[in-house]
Amino acid sequence: MVGESPDPVQSPNKDHLLVTDPEVLAGYCRDASPLIGSPEGLLRPDSAQEVAFWLREAVARGVPVTPCGLRSSTTGSGLASSGWALSCERLQSPLELDSERSIATVGAGVVLRDFKDELESHGWFYPPDPTSERECSMGGTVACDASGARSYRYGPTHRWLRGLEVALMDGSVRWFRRRLVEKDASGYACLRDLVDLFCGSEGTLGVITRVEVDLLPKPEAFLGALAFFDSVASALHFVGQARQEQRRGTSIQPRCLELLDATCLEIMRQQDSGVIIPNGAGAAIFFEEEHLAGEEDRVLAAWWSLLESFAGSYAADTVVATDRARKEELRSLRHAVPAHLNEEGARFMEHGGKKLSTDWAVPFEHLARFMVDADGWLEEAGIHRVARFGHVGNGHPHYNLMLKDGAEVERGERVVRRMCERACELGGTISAEHGVGKVKRAYARYRFSELELAAMQALKKLLDPAELLAPGNLFP
Ligand SMILES: Cc1cc2nc3c(=O)[nH]c(=O)nc-3n(C[C@H](O)[C@H](O)[C@H](O)COP(=O)(O)OP(=O)(O)OC[C@H]3O[C@@H](n4cnc5c(N)ncnc54)[C@H](O)[C@@H]3O)c2cc1C
Repeated sequence: MVGESPDPVQSPNKDHLLVTDPEVLAGYCRDASPLIGSPEGLLRPDSAQEVAFWLREAVARGVPVTPCGLRSSTTGSGLASSGWALSCERLQSPLELDSERSIATVGAGVVLRDFKDELESHGWFYPPDPTSERECSMGGTVACDASGARSYRYGPTHRWLRGLEVALMDGSVRWFRRRLVEKDASGYACLRDLVDLFCGSEGTLGVITRVEVDLLPKPEAFLGALAFFDSVASALHFVGQARQEQRRGTSIQPRCLELLDATCLEIMRQQDSGVIIPNGAGAAIFFEEEHLAGEEDRVLAAWWSLLESFAGSYAADTVVATDRARKEELRSLRHAVPAHLNEEGARFMEHGGKKLSTDWAVPFEHLARFMVDADGWLEEAGIHRVARFGHVGNGHPHYNLMLKDGAEVERGERVVRRMCERACELGGTISAEHGVGKVKRAYARYRFSELELAAMQALKKLLDPAELLAPGNLFP
């Protein structure tokens, strides 16, 4: 193959050699984190057996090997700092649909959005919806337990997993599946099947080659809306009320509850869109709700009455999207915010600055107080340009600190560390969706006790005795 070395190591697929061409390797040195990888070789197997072959080879030669999907990780978890990068992009086994059991199986290298689109054409729905769904692989979403806005209603990836085909360091390929019974009281609940062990493992335990998931019938219809408030505090109070209504089983049953703060609204005002953002609004909540055909008015009336009764809301200015074009307009407007911030962050890099994003989450009941404290810490540190958006329904807003230079970066990182420590003290986490990777492993001790870390390390040792898989990920 052009650009591939005549290395004597040759896999069962004779076209696939160990690639050592620096130009090809360069394409596998970056992901969405600020880190840079330095793999010495690249593998692009196209079958589980070929992956297993390379893992055996890595063990025989004592070479570290880091799996990667489509390298959209924000934590550097798919970057090899040494040894081989093992790309799963060619693990493309096509969709197998079992409509009888509402289950689908697909190759780990398939792009999440492509998988979802194909399912939708058959009338099925797979809920996990990371914003990066067009840029990430099925295997990557499992390895990071990815989630998105709709995880408010449907939970993260692990909730949808039925089984995983995994290539292990002993050179075997095995299927791990959930039990088929609805109840099972045998043994440790967390180890009754090993599916969840690989979910969130960030490449450290084995290479996922095929993914089997539960499906739902595609919802008949849904509506989306952007509601405006005078402040973040009012917006969070509104979210609390919506959550209560939902628990009471009223017509308010959102599938997402997403915050956009004043900085985000300012960016949205600059976009060329038909959406009018009221002057004075200091925050917005984007929500979606599914409904049966013909039930739209009933659902809207319920939200309307909640918004109208709410002191801090600009109820009359609420933007409702029921048709495809309007929904797309609202989606693009929301997505313009991270795109704008990324560009701004890239400009700051010239002066040693950057955009620093958080992924912590706290239990919802602590969120409003926590955000007041976090804003105070940022103020004290002299960090003034901050955009807060995301999954507040789950206690999981992303703080985006726009840091102009190296001095601000240092102060910003100190505040983020403080946020992570405090979030864990409150029963929260350092990462609710992007994973720990290499970037956040310094905070792992806030999240895990010594016993939890020792248990994780013992399991790793069992599956990867020479500790060659994804070194540098996850563990402090
Ligand atoms: C703009 C943007 C928006 C994002 N939004 C979200 C979001 O809303 N929600 C969210 O959860 N994440 C989000 N992410 C993060 C990222 O997209 C997810 O973590 C995604 O799941 C990574 O998938 P990937 O295929 O790119 O994996 P990679 O980045 O290539 O790898 C990530 C990790 O998975 C492991 N891995 C990958 N494939 C396999 C495999 N087959 N077997 C074993 N291990 C494997 C790697 O070793 C690594 O540890 C976002 C990223 C970007 C850039």
